[in-house]
Amino acid sequence: MPIIDSTPAPKRIVYLDHTAKMGGGEIALLNLVGALDRSRYLPTVVLASDGPLVEKLRAAGITTEVFPLGKELVDTQKDGLGVRSLLKVTQVLDWVRYAFLIARYVRRVKADLIHTNSLKSDIYGGLAGRIARVPVIWHVRDNIDSNYLPAAAAAAFRFLARTAPSGVIANSHSTLRTLSPSAKKPTAVVYSGMLDRPLVEAAPMDPSSPVVALIGRIAEWKGQHIFLRAAAEVLKTIPSARFWIVGAPLFGEFEYEKSLYSLCEDLGITSNVEFLGFQGDIPKLLKDVTLVAHASCLGEPFGQVVVEGMAAGKPVVATDGGALPEVVVDGETGLLAPMGDASAMARAILTILNDPARGVAMGQAGRRRVQDRFMIHHSVASLEKIYGELLIEK
Ligand code: UDP
Repeated sequence: MPIIDSTPAPKRIVYLDHTAKMGGGEIALLNLVGALDRSRYLPTVVLASDGPLVEKLRAAGITTEVFPLGKELVDTQKDGLGVRSLLKVTQVLDWVRYAFLIARYVRRVKADLIHTNSLKSDIYGGLAGRIARVPVIWHVRDNIDSNYLPAAAAAAFRFLARTAPSGVIANSHSTLRTLSPSAKKPTAVVYSGMLDRPLVEAAPMDPSSPVVALIGRIAEWKGQHIFLRAAAEVLKTIPSARFWIVGAPLFGEFEYEKSLYSLCEDLGITSNVEFLGFQGDIPKLLKDVTLVAHASCLGEPFGQVVVEGMAAGKPVVATDGGALPEVVVDGETGLLAPMGDASAMARAILTILNDPARGVAMGQAGRRRVQDRFMIHHSVASLEKIYGELLIEK
């Protein structure tokens, strides 16, 4: 009797992102596709520009294609996404042409599902899915509100989120609330989980010269200026404290970066502050850090840097917007301070630095919290659940 193999064929998923820079969303995508069960899902990533993500994906064994989209379209900043700019006729034609290109590719590889990973790829991926008749799932990693996007673009995006994709994933409950997606379509929260590598042992805190690190790309809304003002206040009590700014202006915020150097001069704290630029190995760097600070002045959609700090067993001081109240248990794994309030941030930092035993306990509690809910296997489980709903419905 012939043996019938009843194992279902793996589903082919095409992931789309417009950028190949190592932003938080792209790092999360790399971690997620790398952790998929390849016997069930065959991932292919299609990027609209070249960059460091391409090599990282290929090194992880993920088929990766680069189909270049015009540089002007790739580089449009979120706050430049006014409806008028989106409606420029030539640009609309370019987006549509690009969507047809993606649709052709999706048909050629016989994709079962398109998974979009950025706002721009949501748009052209949504259209490509319609053309190729393949379901599309949007993975939204930005707050869709008028603090973050021009009001008309946020409203248009919310409308599209209810109509264009077959399902919506958000990187936190907070992000999902800003979207208010259709109750008739599958939705899921998929946190950007940490990789399953051994968690680094927390080094004992050295109260005499603590290191406070702010990690993340340099951008005004990430609040590096607030961090520096808080640093100046902390230094009045702990003059030996050191402050690290880790990250680079990935999306062109060079003027803001320059203004940070002048602010250090004005505050007289230059010798206590180090700008380390973009670092490739954050877990390694965290070993030498006493406390992880986070200073975003707008609600952080998820805040992987905070979770990374907790994973490394560090106490965190974060702002209280967006998803951070989901991530940090205030008073237990760290302290939350109001957004934009340098004095409150300084007080929170001092509370922890002045009580090293509490700092260690917070770090350990943070590490446990990450193991319990923010690991990559948690993300994959939530993802597979919504993939199941969409692929059965198909
Ligand atoms: N990151 C990094 N090197 C740096 C600064 C940041 O690898 O020098 C990483 C950081 O570890 C995190 C990501 O960039 O994984 C930032 O993600 P987050 O969700 O905090 O912010 P986003 O950039 O998505 O707004």
